[in-house]
Amino acid sequence: MEAPTAIKRRLNELGLRTRLRARPRAQGRVLAPAGLFRRLPSAPGLFFPFYHDVLPEYSGDLRHHLLRMRRIGTMVSYDEGLEVLAGERPLTGPAFCLNFDDGHASWRDVVVPMLLELKLPATFFVTTGLIGRPGNLTWDDLRDIRRAGFPVGSHTVSHHRLADQDDAEVWHEIVDSKKELEDELGVEVRDFAAPYGYPRVDFTEREVRVAEQAGYRSFASTRRPAMHAGDSPMWIRRQGLHPAWPLMAVRTRVHD
Ligand SMILES: [Zn+2]
Repeated sequence: MEAPTAIKRRLNELGLRTRLRARPRAQGRVLAPAGLFRRLPSAPGLFFPFYHDVLPEYSGDLRHHLLRMRRIGTMVSYDEGLEVLAGERPLTGPAFCLNFDDGHASWRDVVVPMLLELKLPATFFVTTGLIGRPGNLTWDDLRDIRRAGFPVGSHTVSHHRLADQDDAEVWHEIVDSKKELEDELGVEVRDFAAPYGYPRVDFTEREVRVAEQAGYRSFASTRRPAMHAGDSPMWIRRQGLHPAWPLMAVRTRVHD
């Protein structure tokens, strides 16, 4: 049992973290000093940086991140990233496989136009229960994004923490989201990203097995280290970023 002071300290930390998350620029400034001794990658390694909402006020910042990634490495699609893991595509330096989570309307308004302009590939992981809700995409928006050439993966139905769900709920989240995306978009959906994504806390082996049975070829977590040929596609490691962060803060997540 934790001593009351330890509990209090923990609550304070949680409160601070929640407040910082609501103010991404401040969060980036807090993270930045930890990036002082890290460098953006220069060695061969596959990274899966991902973002969520990109409000118009952060569009210049996202562009800045993406241009830097493109300058120091190769931007690859999810298909190409999985080829790297399968040993079918050599890694000659850092490679970045960009992706986005949840289903934000800003994907339509900010992200996709920028990706098209910069000719960058990306995959969008959609929480189907968010579609049509305020601030999120509609199915028509998603069909447009698909037609523009961007693959869509599943990010569950309701964005619950999978580790807390019973077997039937897990099946619903992983299998029914796939079916609904496929019915609405008319394409096969083969990639899955777990909400929150930390192994053993947010998801377990059970969810990976269900995803395999459901026909997914990949399962993404939010563990961070770079990936290489031979690593399992059912154990993708991604780096969560916010466009408001300075590059120094990005270095805490994406580094050799
Ligand atoms: Zn999410």
